Amino acid sequence: MSETIYDVAVIGAGPAGTQAAISASHQMKHVLVLHAGKVSFSRGRAYWSKSVEIEDAPVFPGIIGPHFAKALMKWLESRPVVDFRLGAAQRKTGIDIRDGMVTKLIACDAGSREPTVETRSAGACPPRALFELEASTTPIKKNAPLQLERFRARTVVVAAGFDDKWPDIEFQAEAARLYKQYATVFRYAGNKKGWHVCIRCDGHLHVNEHLALLGVGDYIYDAALGAQDFTDKITILTNGRPHGMSPPVLKQVAERKINVIETKIKRHIGKKTDLLGFEMADGTELYFHGFLVDEGLIPNTKFLEGWDYQNDEEGLIVTNEDMQMLDSGGEPIPGLFAAGDIVSGQRNLIATAFALGQEAGLSAADSLRKWHYPTE
Ligand SMILES: Cc1cc2nc3c(=O)[nH]c(=O)nc-3n(C[C@H](O)[C@H](O)[C@H](O)COP(=O)(O)OP(=O)(O)OC[C@H]3O[C@@H](n4cnc5c(N)ncnc54)[C@H](O)[C@@H]3O)c2cc1C
Repeated sequence: MSETIYDVAVIGAGPAGTQAAISASHQMKHVLVLHAGKVSFSRGRAYWSKSVEIEDAPVFPGIIGPHFAKALMKWLESRPVVDFRLGAAQRKTGIDIRDGMVTKLIACDAGSREPTVETRSAGACPPRALFELEASTTPIKKNAPLQLERFRARTVVVAAGFDDKWPDIEFQAEAARLYKQYATVFRYAGNKKGWHVCIRCDGHLHVNEHLALLGVGDYIYDAALGAQDFTDKITILTNGRPHGMSPPVLKQVAERKINVIETKIKRHIGKKTDLLGFEMADGTELYFHGFLVDEGLIPNTKFLEGWDYQNDEEGLIVTNEDMQMLDSGGEPIPGLFAAGDIVSGQRNLIATAFALGQEAGLSAADSLRKWHYPTE
């Protein structure tokens, strides 16, 4: 157990978490960033842009995901922890960066809130710490117990993003990890001629080309609406499931001459990391220029299990305008903030993640101020 009580602990080092940490440390706060990249392979969504350059992230003219992740880390490292004096108090400011997949967030000091089982078991927390974060800090090994460490903080910013759900093609159920289970999909994912997950991000690569969109329901038509900026040659593939689109959507699909194919996909047809098409279950082969999958998302919020917080139907976190998380009664949860893709109702894009990260980092810092406007 670290003896340090951080002012702000940030979970995640994507654009949202990085910006939250920088903004909070800029307000002279002592910040901890825990990120799962090296210890769990959950490297953040931007990382998966393997050969496609991100073209609309400030301030890079074009940058691939791994280089972007490296630049974010360098930015975090530019604010090492230093001591300073504020009035009579000796303080610290700057950012400690730790590899760590947060497995549990524990309320240390419930304050006016009803104490939980977790609160009582964490009775050793000093009064100024509101939270304990339990994190796995070494690479996860099969059949080996997790190496867990605990950290304490007065506020927490959840910026853990989400993972994309990948298409169920050549899926290896017996393989342990997400990246092994979907090994074939990952060979092509995030490449110029491979699986895309964001039409706004990668549509520009396929102007006037034939795009295959994989998914079901009205969600997949949403991707088709985005695709119209780049091409009108679109086929929807449902991979063996009924299309599930509503009658008004189906009417537009027919008007726009979008082909819908409900046959199951048997395997990818590719060359190195280029995806070319599919062999279908009925033996036919289909070829396209671009491929986009929208099968939904998996929010990285397991560590919030047991917390009473509002989330939407996809599991994304509901916040107020200060990025403070809300309980089921709509009341802000003291000290708990969220930013980036994990926040409900926001665009899942890098510049948005930066903006939300700044808001969350500043709100967390502001919440620690001693003086506030007097209330009558
Ligand atoms: C292939 C691809 C291409 C894209 N292209 C573009 C583009 O061109 N332009 C654009 O604007 N957007 C693009 N996006 C979207 C963009 O990447 C996301 O909107 C952005 O990365 C979200 O930032 P974030 O910080 O909220 O989350 P993420 O970037 O997903 O970062 C999440 C962080 O949380 C960490 N984490 C997760 N779980 C835990 C845990 N339990 N404990 C500790 N840490 C944890 C991860 O390690 C990571 O550091 C693309 C996405 C993908 C997948």
